[in-house]
Amino acid sequence: MKIGIVGCAGRMGRMLINAVLDTEGAFLAGGTEQPGSAFLGADLGGLAGRIDQDLTVGDDPNALFTLSGAVIDFTSPAATRHHAVLAVANRTALIVGTTGLSHMDEAVLTDAAGSVPVVYAPNFSVGVTLAMALTERAAAVLGDDYDIEIVEMHHRHKVDAPSGTALGLGRAAAAGREVALDDVWCRARDGHTGARPKGQIGFATLRGGDVVGDHTVIFAGDGERFEIGHKASSRMVFAKGAVRAALWCEGRAPGLYTMRDVLGL
Ligand code: NAD
Repeated sequence: MKIGIVGCAGRMGRMLINAVLDTEGAFLAGGTEQPGSAFLGADLGGLAGRIDQDLTVGDDPNALFTLSGAVIDFTSPAATRHHAVLAVANRTALIVGTTGLSHMDEAVLTDAAGSVPVVYAPNFSVGVTLAMALTERAAAVLGDDYDIEIVEMHHRHKVDAPSGTALGLGRAAAAGREVALDDVWCRARDGHTGARPKGQIGFATLRGGDVVGDHTVIFAGDGERFEIGHKASSRMVFAKGAVRAALWCEGRAPGLYTMRDVLGL
């Protein structure tokens, strides 16, 4: 399958170039960056620290979607909205790793998924996908006598908080309790907050250094604490998962899928 990478000069974009080049059955269709980027015209291989691939960074995503069987998008919410429209116009599968999407952005993905396969996951690692499944199960078994708190830490450049993965873990916990996360979340605390309401799902965000992504879900009961944790030490785990998701889309019916669907969890 020919795979295109939008935002190919970003931290994840460069990892994705390497992951495509190293995956059997995956071929690089090309890559784009935003207009005005200093990387336009650079060779994709060189960007990823490899030999030249005779493919240069472009700024015409429509041309890339035309050429690709699937496009992988780890960019920004505004760019992802635009790419979802191009995926539909070109009948190209779309793999979305961008985080910080609003409910309206997510509605654009849902619309696109009526016409093409869309895999949207806040975290493409196998370990975190498993942690989500375990979190849902633990929340269902433990019930709301156990207070759920989700702690995450990321590098100093991250722009959204809590992380998409933390929110995904929160959504999994809420699903286990059969409630909507938005009805029970506390995304941050400061000042005189009062006692913790029963059933709340809390988040705590840490930022600093070069941390790729640490997440812990804490179930705090009376007399015991149960924790599900994951630490990523290389972005390559996300890139490999996204390429796996792209290949999984070959011949797949249109629909909005998650990494749990790709892994059968
Ligand atoms: P980054 O800033 O290094 O890279 C983003 C790239 O997208 C930049 O090169 C930027 O120029 C480019 N871009 C922005 N708008 C564009 C457009 N219209 N067309 C083409 N390119 C465009 O950021 P990053 O660390 O690579 O992360 C990117 C996103 O992926 C963030 O939302 C991050 O939270 C998310 N992320 C998700 C996962 C996951 O597994 N789902 C893992 C890591 C990061």
